[in-house]
Amino acid sequence: MRHQKVEVLAIGAGPANLALGIALEELAPKELAAGTLIIEQHDDTLWQRGMLLPWTQSQVSFLKDLVTLRNPRSEFSFVNYLHTTGRLDEFINLGTFTPYRSEISGYLQWVASSLSEVRVEYGRRCVSLEPGPLVDGEVSHWLARTADGAVISSRNLVIGAGRDAHVPAELSALPEERVIHSTRFSERIEQVGADRARRIVVIGGAQSAAELLWAAYQRFPEAQCTMLMRSIGLNAYQSSKFTNELFYPSFIDDFFATRPETRSQVLREMHVTNYAGLAPAMLETLYREMYQERLRGTERLRMRTLTDVAAARMDGDEVVLTTVDRKSGDREEIRCDLVLLGTGFVRDMPAMVRDLAAATGAGQATVDRAYRMVLPESYTAGCYLQGVNEATHGIADSLLSVLASRSQDIVTDLLARRGLPADEALLAELL
Ligand SMILES: Cc1cc2nc3c(=O)[nH]c(=O)nc-3n(C[C@H](O)[C@H](O)[C@H](O)COP(=O)(O)OP(=O)(O)OC[C@H]3O[C@@H](n4cnc5c(N)ncnc54)[C@H](O)[C@@H]3O)c2cc1C
Repeated sequence: MRHQKVEVLAIGAGPANLALGIALEELAPKELAAGTLIIEQHDDTLWQRGMLLPWTQSQVSFLKDLVTLRNPRSEFSFVNYLHTTGRLDEFINLGTFTPYRSEISGYLQWVASSLSEVRVEYGRRCVSLEPGPLVDGEVSHWLARTADGAVISSRNLVIGAGRDAHVPAELSALPEERVIHSTRFSERIEQVGADRARRIVVIGGAQSAAELLWAAYQRFPEAQCTMLMRSIGLNAYQSSKFTNELFYPSFIDDFFATRPETRSQVLREMHVTNYAGLAPAMLETLYREMYQERLRGTERLRMRTLTDVAAARMDGDEVVLTTVDRKSGDREEIRCDLVLLGTGFVRDMPAMVRDLAAATGAGQATVDRAYRMVLPESYTAGCYLQGVNEATHGIADSLLSVLASRSQDIVTDLLARRGLPADEALLAELL
């Protein structure tokens, strides 16, 4: 069995840990950056791998890249990526703040391969995490096991592995080949032949579900594509320049200090700015296509609103969904070949984090302002959580908007615990 020892082990080479890698190279002494290993389960870095569809765009400004809000002069900016790859003129000429998802994805891969001290290792899936032994009253490190059979010991962990996909319990008994969650759409849809996709049902009523519907409709020109949603119908993101200020990194302090009941109110009200809506362009595309279908007298695209899915089963070769009409309470059966899930993510902490917190005896996983997991006193080993702290750090926690500042918070905390300030001169210049 291969053993490795590092100072910081970061799990997942997504935007969060790549931003951390940049912050370590820019703010920390060389030995800390060089003592950091990022492991990624896939063989490359892609952004939103499951939904990396050619026509999809980022929903936040390119200026909210991995570093610019912290260090506008960084060589790791999205603008420098465009410059380096010879695409700056074209991007400017397009006149948009929101690049295609594929461009952000290319940027992430470029950052990963441009880091010079922090190492990124691919094809390494973390399969378990556990605390090291208690020695002289102290737990000083973690043990991570990877699918390639290695054990990595680290003094600090940073978990940036994204959130767990939400598959509604009513659908969990369906065979795997008949249900595709958005997080695996691009890869799994390749294996679906047209004969297995004559009747497609998409479940969900927000951006991911709409993208699944549109992608399936285009991919299978003969298919009947039906969208089932609980809500009254598709809606645009409801935000304004006023509420958009709640996505600022500077709002995190405010939110963290807010009373629990008001935090819940803020998250409830902000839900419509992010999770519950669609980008206006997607809405327009779908509506116009449905309009044109009616003109042509066809009806390949259908939407059923105010509808719950109560159960699912197989009947021979068909998937049978039992739906409940919220208006009348009537139950109905819908037969289809394939179910696509735009049902989002589990709200709780990911299983990996919950299991680790339980193993430490910390109970429910929670973090302090610097994103460090609150652990029993015997722990000098640190564990930081990225992207899963909406409840304490606000709605932007899962988004790109706060990555630059969050990685600075984590690096500053790491250094403070080693008795080192972050690069004072650089910080003073930046803050
Ligand atoms: C379809 C979609 C569109 C989005 N669009 C936007 C947008 O426009 N703007 C925005 O700000 N946010 C958007 N988001 C939110 C998104 O969560 C963030 O943009 C960002 O991807 C979060 O980065 P992350 O690094 O925390 O997680 P992820 O991007 O999920 O990255 C996690 C990484 O960890 C790896 N990993 C997971 N488990 C393991 C393991 N056990 N071992 C090793 N590696 C592992 C994964 O393969 C992945 O590479 C979108 C989300 C979705 C689902």
